[in-house]
Amino acid sequence: MMDSWVASCLGAPEPVNRDDLERIRPELFNREILEKRQLELLNGILCYAREKSSFYRERFPDKQITTFAEFADLPFTTPEDLRRRGYEMVCTGADEIGRIVTLMETSGSEGLPKRVYFTPADQERTVDFFHHGMLEFAVPGDRALLLFPGNSPGSLNVLLTEALSRMEVKARIFGFPKPEDYGRVSEEIVSGNFNRIVGPPFTIAAIAEYSEKAGMAEKIAGIVESVLLAGSFVSEQDCETIQRLWHCRIDEEYGMTETGLGGGVGCKTGGGYHLWESDLYYEVIDPDTGLLVPDGTCGELVVTTLNRQAMPFIRYRTGDRSRILPGPCACGSILKHLERVQSRPSVKKYLR
Ligand SMILES: [Zn+2]
Repeated sequence: MMDSWVASCLGAPEPVNRDDLERIRPELFNREILEKRQLELLNGILCYAREKSSFYRERFPDKQITTFAEFADLPFTTPEDLRRRGYEMVCTGADEIGRIVTLMETSGSEGLPKRVYFTPADQERTVDFFHHGMLEFAVPGDRALLLFPGNSPGSLNVLLTEALSRMEVKARIFGFPKPEDYGRVSEEIVSGNFNRIVGPPFTIAAIAEYSEKAGMAEKIAGIVESVLLAGSFVSEQDCETIQRLWHCRIDEEYGMTETGLGGGVGCKTGGGYHLWESDLYYEVIDPDTGLLVPDGTCGELVVTTLNRQAMPFIRYRTGDRSRILPGPCACGSILKHLERVQSRPSVKKYLR
């Protein structure tokens, strides 16, 4: 569970042991403390974004908010804003940027890409999230094969490799395999004895299907203990395919480029994801009216980054459809519990 780490990121009132949830006493970290700190961070990011970016100065009023309801009265930002005015949303100098991710989508205006900017400090927060999010998915000595696109500095594969190395898991970046590479991936899983496979759900499901046709599924099933699905929409069908052919556990992480690649960690007890609430403030809205919906009701996820330096997002409409599961989770986490996302506008490719 990520609670102890989130608590320490939010400066919970007493030092907590980052690896041991049992040590967190409810009076030291609870929803009230978490939400009070989130409100402070929301005011902080509003102030910062207005000061540093012409786009945000124009869009958001110069006032402090005192409640989440007041925050929900503020305007949205949209993927369309990001495509058309992304550069005006950047809050740092060009020399402070560590990475730019360019995303082409199948929908969107005139094929304009979305570009998302990160400073090295932004990327470090993502590595820290992956590190703590993966603590329950892998153990020291594991061997992980990474199947996301790219291996340039700051790419998802490289950030994951850094996070895994902090927990003494050896990671190898294969990169994003094309269908003609599925044989090579299958052979590499066997020859490299990789017990954790990390990548996009549809890709891993396709490799599992290939391995069955090639007569390698049973052999791989004997090696792979779990797959970690991340980086895109997880379909029930992909999970079913992977489990049926490789008989392995399926772990999930939720996130998108705009949320800093991380976003939430799969809950083994209650399904869905517990959200990264020290870095992200999530709302669920009725996509037609733009009004907040109560927990338990499905709607569109809206996200605000609480600490992002290079390109903060404020009330950003993600297009993802899901709901916050009401009530306490059986696992004991107090972090918001998001049901598995039901649909997402598809991303065609990563350019870099
Ligand atoms: Zn849970």
